[in-house]
Amino acid sequence: MARRRPTLAVISALGLIAVGAAGWAAREKSADLRRSCPGGVLSVASVGDIMMGSDLGPARRAAADTAPLLRASHVALGSLSMTLLERPREADPRGPVGGRRHADQLHDWGFTVVSRANDHVADFGRDGVGATGRLLGRAGLASAGVGGDLAAARAPVWLETPCGRVAVIAATSTLRGEDPATPTRPGIAGRPGANPLRYSTRLELDPQTYRALSEQAVRLGGAPPDADGRLRVLGATLEPGERNVAIRTVDGADQAAILAQVREARKTAALVIVSIHSHEPDNASLEPAPFIEAFARAAIDGGAGLVVGQGPHRLRPLEFHGNGLIAYSLGDFVSDRRVAASLSANPFDAARTSEGAVLTAAFRGGRIRSARLHALDLSAGEDVAAGFPRLARDGSAQSAIAGLIRQSGARGAHLVVRDGAADISPATPTGRPS
Ligand SMILES: [Zn+2]
Repeated sequence: MARRRPTLAVISALGLIAVGAAGWAAREKSADLRRSCPGGVLSVASVGDIMMGSDLGPARRAAADTAPLLRASHVALGSLSMTLLERPREADPRGPVGGRRHADQLHDWGFTVVSRANDHVADFGRDGVGATGRLLGRAGLASAGVGGDLAAARAPVWLETPCGRVAVIAATSTLRGEDPATPTRPGIAGRPGANPLRYSTRLELDPQTYRALSEQAVRLGGAPPDADGRLRVLGATLEPGERNVAIRTVDGADQAAILAQVREARKTAALVIVSIHSHEPDNASLEPAPFIEAFARAAIDGGAGLVVGQGPHRLRPLEFHGNGLIAYSLGDFVSDRRVAASLSANPFDAARTSEGAVLTAAFRGGRIRSARLHALDLSAGEDVAAGFPRLARDGSAQSAIAGLIRQSGARGAHLVVRDGAADISPATPTGRPS
């Protein structure tokens, strides 16, 4: 590690990170862009989850492909699903972990901000939350959706761009143990952690299942169903219904608090971006949970121009709503398979597929103007290990997002693959892109 850092610093000072000649030119141009605001258009690049292992070689090679996209945007946002420590152990069973050089790698990749509201925020407790923020800050990256207490985790982070100030608000609905930050009260310090969007689950059961379960519950010494037929088993609420279905209801106070931040930020921000980490209903689902759809649309109604999701390690559909764009999940950006051992403790990261995309979007006056989706190939390549992003080319881009094109189309977002990436536009009532 001691050998690598100075090399990285020198290379990065020369503006020569491993991006090749074309990439270098793009980087020079994008450095100019980050200092100017051509046509009053603010550009944002967003990706999904980032989980790196201790060997950063594949990440550096992968950056050749994707860094130009990130660097050509005023704001480049990813979701950091790992902890950074001053002295990380090579493989730590508590969760994915890196150090200072991982923060430097994110910066060299082109990221300006990461969301840390997710189900890995508390893997290394209070110290891990603090160290990750410090190391990112030293590398020049902002952290969204995390803080020393609930108020700090809820607050937006502000990014200065030549097109104005951008507010990034990040939250997570997938929470484990001590992930949620807690409020500071008189005499009680709050706990550091993530900005939570909690929910409760009740299970509606078909008559046969309901009867069998309620009989068993009573036999095991549980309370009989109440007057409405509701039964409490192991903390879950069971109700008689037509079929077996889980119904998730958002925590109204959490949602109201987050939306209040969106509305307040919109008063002075050139653009408000909301990031939401949500595995729900589960990683296998191609669609987001209904409560997440409602939350995302409410965030746009409240003034956000972009809502980006991630969590399930797969792509989920895109949708235009009001003046904004929603990407329900951008999947993974980096998912180093060699950190698998440290993931077994987290049920959301066990066996899974891995797909992802880079979303680039342009805004004027806080409203969406245009957007493109660049599909990623996360399979093993000639010089890149599995789980590191390469841009999917030509036919493979089309096939990588074929399902997504269908699903997004059903929501009125029309995706047309051109030059290896998909233009996204709202479909008119006739079904044609406007
Ligand atoms: Zn997660």
